[in-house]
Amino acid sequence: MIKRGFDYRYDKEQKELRLIMPEELKNHFFASIYCRGEIMDRSQGDPGIIWASLSSNFNNIQLVAPHQVHGTRVIPSSSSFALPLRTEADAVFIDSSSDAIASLRFADCCPVVIASDSPDPWMLLLHSGFAGTAKNIVGKTLTMLYEEKGKEWRKDRTWAWIGPCICMECYSRKFDDPSTQDALNFFSPDNFYIKNGLVHFDIKGEVIKQLVQCGLPYDNIYDSSDCTCCSNGLYYSYRAGDKISRIFLLGGNTTKLI
Ligand SMILES: [Zn+2]
Repeated sequence: MIKRGFDYRYDKEQKELRLIMPEELKNHFFASIYCRGEIMDRSQGDPGIIWASLSSNFNNIQLVAPHQVHGTRVIPSSSSFALPLRTEADAVFIDSSSDAIASLRFADCCPVVIASDSPDPWMLLLHSGFAGTAKNIVGKTLTMLYEEKGKEWRKDRTWAWIGPCICMECYSRKFDDPSTQDALNFFSPDNFYIKNGLVHFDIKGEVIKQLVQCGLPYDNIYDSSDCTCCSNGLYYSYRAGDKISRIFLLGGNTTKLI
């Protein structure tokens, strides 16, 4: 089944959601989301165990798998940050100099991939959950990149993918929780509603707003539109009871796999 920007693979016992790269990026990058399945069940969210099962399909290249802390730090997809190191970070940056594959793990938080061939090919994997979205990890990372790449960066040659994450109906927080109050000052009013003393947040909607605010054309944003909790048979959801296993986002440089 193909959804705009995504290709679902139901091969064998491990479901996979591949990101479809536009022509401009096909020869540079690949990215894929490993959903609920045998390898992810068995690995229980441990990237070392996941990679022991998958690395032979990827030229046995080293894996960067940061210790995710709901912050905004970016690390490079470099062997100097690869396993067994677990540096604290929530984003990984890939370009032609990257000598490792990048990964992140999720169970309701929003997987975000941003890639461009302007002014040179680069790709970012981001972990944008409730806290990361309230800290605007997407906007901060893209602003940092803009300062580095300057006016040469063409946003019309930049694409973003939003992977499966918890929907607004399934994600609620207590109204009087301090982090809820902070987020109410930050999230756009379109992206939350209050019901029965609970605030429902649309994390994905806020991420899309942040991408558009950074200048990405709306048509260049691909939304898997799946909820991890509503579609718990396909994905892992912390709120639906998956306390250990995780969805695994993997992305890297295609040329390093040859
Ligand atoms: Zn849902």
